[in-house]
Amino acid sequence: MTARTVITMRNATPVVTHAADGVERSDAQASNSAANRQFYKSRVPIYPKLVHGAFRKVKWAVMIVTLGIYYLVPWIRWDRGPSAPNQAVLVDLAHERFYFFSIEIWPQEVYYITGLLVLAAVTLFLINALFGRLWCGYACPQTVWTDLFIYVENLIEGDRAARIRLAASPWTAGKVAKRVSKHTIWILIAIATGGAWVFYFTDAPTLAADLFTGHASLVVYAAIAVLAFTTYTLGGLMREQVCTYMCPWPRIQGAMTDNEALGVTYRSDRGEPRGPHKKGQPWEGRGACIDCNQCVAACPMGIDIRDGAQLECINCGLCIDACDDVMARIGLPKGLIAYDTDDNVRRRGAGQQARFRFVRPRTLLYGAVLVVVSAIMLFSFLTRHTIGLDVIRDRNPNFVALADGSVRNGYTLKLMNHADTARGFYLSITGVKAAKVNVIGLGVVSLPVKLAVDPDKVRAVRVLVTVARPDLRDGSQDIDFVLRDAKGGETREAGAVFVSGEQP
Ligand code: SF4
Ligand code: SF4
Repeated sequence: MTARTVITMRNATPVVTHAADGVERSDAQASNSAANRQFYKSRVPIYPKLVHGAFRKVKWAVMIVTLGIYYLVPWIRWDRGPSAPNQAVLVDLAHERFYFFSIEIWPQEVYYITGLLVLAAVTLFLINALFGRLWCGYACPQTVWTDLFIYVENLIEGDRAARIRLAASPWTAGKVAKRVSKHTIWILIAIATGGAWVFYFTDAPTLAADLFTGHASLVVYAAIAVLAFTTYTLGGLMREQVCTYMCPWPRIQGAMTDNEALGVTYRSDRGEPRGPHKKGQPWEGRGACIDCNQCVAACPMGIDIRDGAQLECINCGLCIDACDDVMARIGLPKGLIAYDTDDNVRRRGAGQQARFRFVRPRTLLYGAVLVVVSAIMLFSFLTRHTIGLDVIRDRNPNFVALADGSVRNGYTLKLMNHADTARGFYLSITGVKAAKVNVIGLGVVSLPVKLAVDPDKVRAVRVLVTVARPDLRDGSQDIDFVLRDAKGGETREAGAVFVSGEQP
């Protein structure tokens, strides 16, 4: 067997070592190992080794899909007619609308967003109860952008050993060129990320033209700069520290996980006792782990999964790929590291069968909450109104007592037409016997009065309601404004009070 030369991470001094025939022994050390643990210590740089395996492929696929969605969605057009913007997904702050393809959410319907957030949270809880931190390992924006930045670093500076060598080498023209290239591409990615974000808030093609010709507002440039800075800093420079020190989810997840949730697990029952293996040596009496540290070298969090479940582990599965590759090369079955549970490791160690329980009280509970919230949201969405009516009563003055003894109250009505065509609405009043109704701009009207509202617009109407003295009740009485679509018959009611000023 030929011994290999490996560059250490600590001092870049070449050492000769191997773990088994054909398998290098990396000197990677877990950044959080007990020997390294102090109250305060500088960050140990992490140079994750590129692995090729099933989980790496899934991560590439998720990265391409999520980044593709993020960067491209603002450019999708969606025809909503002349009265509404034609961008498929748009947060239109100026007109207080959120557009998502054929769905248009008004400010009064913000509970849909609340419902979606509840659904997202419960889905996260359910996935966590079933498979651990899958979100963190595959789809979290911090993970996706860090992965992208590491990919760029890998392209320019080479894989782990080359990057360690470069970091330890003196500053030469070649090193400067590589570093400048890497940071330039990172900054371009960061700017593109910030730029894509602002496109969600206004017409993307128009804003893109304004951005390149210098006609966009200062606020837009500032927003892009802030987002580019955070993307570059969090994804390129801070990387795993964001997950370990800044994100609250690992702590929350730690409290929510039970023994049955799958997590990336080192099967110590199979792996121990570990140690280097020489070709031809028997495997009896020892574990399958050849202590090659390839799992540590591949880990983007810089930890050693063989130390057991850790807060830093994002369940990305890259150590599984690294170890499976090693197992294939030494001719042992894959799966020394796998999605499993510590309880199963104990069970197998005690000669019992492994057990996977996906149906448990907490998964049933999360599933039930998901179904109920989804059903409520679906029902309310399918029965949502295309008319809206808000009533605000005048407070100053509270009421006006007229010379003939009658009393007048003033109201501001907001008539909302959620449709993309102009509509006529009939307005009427119930609850009080109105002697006179004055719609400002129209004068005294008889009810129901027809009022036109432009497509996808809110029309504010001031209404003065007068009640004759014999019809007044003590204190105040309920008054209802009723709005009915002149064509479809759809109706909305909004209640208020009519104040008489009399003591009860
Ligand atoms: S668990 Fe696998 S990859 Fe990690 S040191 Fe052992 S054999 Fe190597
Ligand atoms: S230990 Fe494995 S699963 Fe956990 S973060 Fe590291 S590579 Fe990913």
